[in-house]
Amino acid sequence: MISLHIGIDDTDSPRKGCTTYIAALLVEKLAKINAKFLDYPNLVRLNPNVPWKTRGNGALCLRIQLEEGLLEEVKEFTIDTVEEYADLEYEGTDPGIVFFQGERIPKEIRMFARNTIQGLVKLEDAISLIKKFRAEAFGFKKCRGIIGALASIGETLENDHTYEIIAYRIPENYGKPRQLDEESVRRMDRETKPYTFNNVDPETGRILITPRGPDPILYGIRGETPEIVKKAHEMVRALEPIERWVIFRTNHGTDAHLRKVESISEVRPYHPVIVKGTVSKPPRIIPRRHVIFTIKDETGEVDCAAYEPTGSLRKIARRLMVGDLVEVYGGVRPPSEKNPLTINLEKLKILRLAPKISYMNPLCPKCGKRMKSMGAGKGFRCEKCGFRSKELEKVAVEEERDLREGIYISDPRSERHLTKPLQRYGMEKKHAKVRLIDGWFGFGKT
Ligand code: ZN
Repeated sequence: MISLHIGIDDTDSPRKGCTTYIAALLVEKLAKINAKFLDYPNLVRLNPNVPWKTRGNGALCLRIQLEEGLLEEVKEFTIDTVEEYADLEYEGTDPGIVFFQGERIPKEIRMFARNTIQGLVKLEDAISLIKKFRAEAFGFKKCRGIIGALASIGETLENDHTYEIIAYRIPENYGKPRQLDEESVRRMDRETKPYTFNNVDPETGRILITPRGPDPILYGIRGETPEIVKKAHEMVRALEPIERWVIFRTNHGTDAHLRKVESISEVRPYHPVIVKGTVSKPPRIIPRRHVIFTIKDETGEVDCAAYEPTGSLRKIARRLMVGDLVEVYGGVRPPSEKNPLTINLEKLKILRLAPKISYMNPLCPKCGKRMKSMGAGKGFRCEKCGFRSKELEKVAVEEERDLREGIYISDPRSERHLTKPLQRYGMEKKHAKVRLIDGWFGFGKT
């Protein structure tokens, strides 16, 4: 028996397809030839902040054991399936497949995966690793998908991870409105919380498990264990046929894309970041209701943007004041002619609020009532008892802030696949203990 890791990426386009669907088809074919699955199919979201991403920027890896004699057959039907289902006519869809044989994934490939999730990598880097470790790569067109394919092999999800069950539509229904009993989704959400997440937007009540596009996905439910997402799937009542479903192990909801840097000078375009700073310019609202504020430290200054769809996060950002100490989380947009380098907020942690001081008229020393000003430099007069004074001065009063210290996250409807939702805080996994349930691997037809 040999161990084989199959990575696939960049097969879909905004108008057609889904790499997870190709993986779902392959899972079935592999099961038919009695391949032994070493893991759930891994669905690895890559850096959402790259300039050339397709839709979800998700790559897939299948990890199996099989008889050596079956190796060529597996490679052949993998390539055939990608060729058949990828949107090869679409400019910007450049599929890639990587096969890697071996029990353990070399550290360099794991590091490459981390850089693909948190930063920018080049196709040449992927190719040289593929040569060095005698992996095999197949690329279509510009071959860019080879990067994600190798990264999905290298991301072994040994730390925090989650699961997603995806149910697929029958092809006749692609492009038509998705038919689900919404009440069954709300009930599933109530009964499986907090072990599933992002099912329903709490503010608008909108169902979030269904995507919008013409792709084959009917819905996807995310959660902490394979059992809970399977159970949640059984609770949802679909009002259209489900062709098949698969459970994926993923880096969704883990913040895997964010890298903490020590200072603002280390903030680089396209590298999602966590960085601390003090608010140096007050929040300003720009057209389309986005909120921009500026933070600084001793190394530099950077703009932060809370866009309208981030909902409550934008409302929080608007209440910041110069002097507040914050930690910001988000993707980084390069400077343009109009705008400087900008962090697009996904989260905001308020570490320390600056005191809000306002100056008020003094209290009357005789009767305690707040005095009236008689005009600049002319002193104060008490309306109640008539006391006057030229010596008294305005007094500094600390006002209460309409903001609390703590972490704020964009509303689920605008959350990125990778953003860790509030309810997952404290549930992070430290190890990957993958239990494949006997006789049931995690895919099916009902
Ligand atoms: Zn008085």
